[in-house]
Amino acid sequence: MAERMSVLYDASKCTACQACSVACKQWNVLPAEKTTITTSIQGHNDFTPKTWTFIHFQESFENKKMEWLFRKEQCMHCGDAACKKSCNHDAISHTDKGFVVIDHDKCIGCGYCVTNCTFHIPRVDETTKKAYKCTGCPERIANGLKPACVLTCQPEALVYGDRKTIVKMAQDRVKALLPKHPKANVYGATSLDGLNFTYVLLREPAYYGLPANPSVPVSLDLWKDIVRPFGGFAVAGALVATAVGFIMTRGKSNQASKHDDSDKGAGING
Ligand code: SF4
Ligand code: SF4
Ligand code: SF4
Repeated sequence: MAERMSVLYDASKCTACQACSVACKQWNVLPAEKTTITTSIQGHNDFTPKTWTFIHFQESFENKKMEWLFRKEQCMHCGDAACKKSCNHDAISHTDKGFVVIDHDKCIGCGYCVTNCTFHIPRVDETTKKAYKCTGCPERIANGLKPACVLTCQPEALVYGDRKTIVKMAQDRVKALLPKHPKANVYGATSLDGLNFTYVLLREPAYYGLPANPSVPVSLDLWKDIVRPFGGFAVAGALVATAVGFIMTRGKSNQASKHDDSDKGAGING
């Protein structure tokens, strides 16, 4: 892999202007969609095949005080990506910069990536039968440009750079925030082999609706690393084992019924 890149999202600098959502739609030629206002100003409140990023507004009440938290939501581009492991058609891969992309020539829209994604991000378009999500703007990156959402962000809440530098920036920012925001933390530095969207959060991940310790279920690792590669042998083995088990059980039950019959015979005769 070429040098791994990353986007820093700093919740302490974000003004929730939502220009990033507009830039994403514009660059990716995604149409506007009708939304319903929920909470104070939440418009888009979920992903769709045509909405790949939006700002999540979180209103938290503590000691009769309201705290208003923002978080940009999009694919986290996990190093250890559950979507990729769950795809039976090898339609999901990492780019050489570490972003996770879906190959629509291979995707059949089965929705396994939706069900298994650690953050529940992709969405299947029922018309095209393909899954969609943030791509990390690989075509821009390949041409030396920043992702569209990063380029548009005026307060520089979004920064693009090599992953080591981004993680260091996030750690330094949290250090600076701690005196005023004692719960500030870096999210995504190491979990799931590192997330390519690294967050600076002002409160614990749970306040933002994020899992504290995101992980890929062991069953998915078993599926990807053992059952799938040896699927044919495993199924054949299972069939042979079932057949042998059946024959042995039949053999035992025949013997048992013979004993039963002879016992009964002895009883009758006696
Ligand atoms: S453009 Fe920047 S400041 Fe505006 S909502 Fe997006 S991340 Fe926040
Ligand atoms: S956030 Fe979900 S869709 Fe994105 S890379 Fe991780 S598992 Fe895949
Ligand atoms: S990286 Fe590109 S595809 Fe992903 S949210 Fe930003 S603009 Fe949209």
